[in-house]
Amino acid sequence: MKCRVCRGPAVIDIRRHNSNFCVDHFLKLCRDQVAKAIKQFSMLEPGDRVLVAVSGGKDSLALWDLLVELGYRADGLYVGLGIDGYSDVSGEFVRRFVEERGQTLVEVDLRADEGFDVPTAAAVTRRVPCSACGLSKRHLFDRAAREGGYDAVATGHNLDDEAAVLFGNLLKWQTDYLGRQRPMLPARDGFPRKVKPLVRLTERETAAYCVLRGIDYQVEECPMAAGNKHLGFKETLNDLEVRSPGAKHDLYFGFLDRAVDRFTSAGDGSGDVELGACAECGAPTTGEVCAFCRLAARARDAEPVALGPPRRRR
Ligand code: SF4
Ligand code: ZN
Repeated sequence: MKCRVCRGPAVIDIRRHNSNFCVDHFLKLCRDQVAKAIKQFSMLEPGDRVLVAVSGGKDSLALWDLLVELGYRADGLYVGLGIDGYSDVSGEFVRRFVEERGQTLVEVDLRADEGFDVPTAAAVTRRVPCSACGLSKRHLFDRAAREGGYDAVATGHNLDDEAAVLFGNLLKWQTDYLGRQRPMLPARDGFPRKVKPLVRLTERETAAYCVLRGIDYQVEECPMAAGNKHLGFKETLNDLEVRSPGAKHDLYFGFLDRAVDRFTSAGDGSGDVELGACAECGAPTTGEVCAFCRLAARARDAEPVALGPPRRRR
């Protein structure tokens, strides 16, 4: 197996590019794909201050490293979710990365700073845990970006994530979600710009990137992910990709090229609704009190929920 670029020994094959790459040219490919996504979707300007939401997993740590390599001023934001046996370990991976690479980290701990955790919030809402978790993370990312004066929040969603979310939204024709499924959402009404610079890389590639760059990451899957439909959609798309290399890329980028604009008027969330300030925390909201403060009030009053040990990722 030879590198497509230099004909030296290759370490990875990428079937959707119909190519093999050596270490140096694979790392360059990752940087080039991120730079291309940033340019293609006008995600970042050279002097922007970026807040990278890091979980301790491969995608977010690879993203942080890639943005620094590309010359962006990128700090990390870690939110401790209070998921026993998982959150403490994920925090250690993030702190190790920060120490080894001399980066700046902003930390928020749900239990210590907000008085509740994700398992308890999930129990009081009686919805899938990821819904309470996602709501909390979005709120805390937005707040940290506002308070820290960052231009954008970057998240580590990769091509597999975005294709799976798109597939799920298409199965149910969630037209309002489809209209918002873009890798860059501009800042509006006190919310920071949101960017997903890894959309041109798969999770196999971000994992390989971490290994080759010596980035240690948390392999354990979040124990609350069970029941998350996206995992099933990912498996379905992986089967499809084996038969038809490039299928995920074509699904997702074909949608962005030719379809997303058709759904935007169905509710892209921009404009028509007046936002006021949350009476509790001041965050922009349509109601009197924002969804996060309502969730936090209920979760703080509830009996804390304990969890078993994490499952290993297959
Ligand atoms: Fe949160 Fe769900 Fe992700 Fe776990 S899997 S960290 S609960 S969004
Ligand atoms: Zn609030």
